[in-house]
Amino acid sequence: EVYRPELSDAAEQRTRLLHALHEAVDSGALSLAYQPKFDLASGRLVGMEALMRWRQADGTVVPPDRFIPLAEQSGLILPMGSWALQTALQALKTLKEAGHTGLHVAVNVTVSQFMQPDFVQKVLEALATTGMAAADLELEVTESVALIGQDAVIDVLRTLRSLGISLAIDDFGTGFSSLSYLDQIPAHRLKIDRAFVQRLETCGPGARIASLVVPLGHQIGMTVVAEGVETLQQAILLHELGCDEVQGYLFARPMPLPELLAWIGQRSTP
Ligand code: C2E
Ligand code: CA
Ligand code: CA
Ligand code: CA
Repeated sequence: EVYRPELSDAAEQRTRLLHALHEAVDSGALSLAYQPKFDLASGRLVGMEALMRWRQADGTVVPPDRFIPLAEQSGLILPMGSWALQTALQALKTLKEAGHTGLHVAVNVTVSQFMQPDFVQKVLEALATTGMAAADLELEVTESVALIGQDAVIDVLRTLRSLGISLAIDDFGTGFSSLSYLDQIPAHRLKIDRAFVQRLETCGPGARIASLVVPLGHQIGMTVVAEGVETLQQAILLHELGCDEVQGYLFARPMPLPELLAWIGQRSTP
């Protein structure tokens, strides 16, 4: 085996980052940002997605795309996920108490969270302790959850749905998509990945993916959401395609709760 310093550096960096993440979880250095989601035709706010944020003591921000996979591999995602669920529901409660009703909060959930035998129990507990209803919560799962292909996973999804919790299939089209599972997952929403939204304005390969996904989702009774909408042109094209909901920097960025409260307050004053 040839010594490759760049490899061991990467491994060392991972170890250091994982150690720091452990400390962040313990010291409460994680937070959630909330990104509004809108009905495209009416512009009505329908809810928001909770996104994890980690700012280190020295001010460095570590992006979730870096620390979530690390958390998933190490099992740390389990306590982090429970915390996120609880915190997001608590935030929705704060919004409700401020008079902003009829909204839901969407929380991202990974494969290993789903595989916990007491996952449904944990979700119910989070609802009970915050006093929120099942209909207030949406869980976002990627295709990989379904692709585990285990009946047990599908059972969990069906149980959640029967309890009134809604499900969204996240990042649709980016994984090893197989259409056969789509019918099996009892999801309410289908989220078209940002990559396809970006390609809408080009005439390169993939430009028409979004136009195929919208009727596909509708056919199986799902609400279709486009993520990562950054330009007016994208929004117009999505509207023409019949896309139901949108999320993206064009409309609103992910915000900490106090900022979200101020933003909603401003929106609703005439
Ligand atoms: P995601 O679930 O696909 O979340 C959407 C990502 O797109 C977020 O990135 C969001 O900030 C970003 N985004 C939204 N609108 C725009 C836009 O108009 N332009 C661009 N360029 N980006 C936009 P973020 O917050 O960095 O999160 C990245 C990923 O990390 C998420 O992708 C999700 O897979 C994961 N993640 C974040 N928070 C959590 C969490 O609490 N639990 C789990 N399991 N995963 C999370
Ligand atoms: Ca998501
Ligand atoms: Ca996504
Ligand atoms: Ca993504």
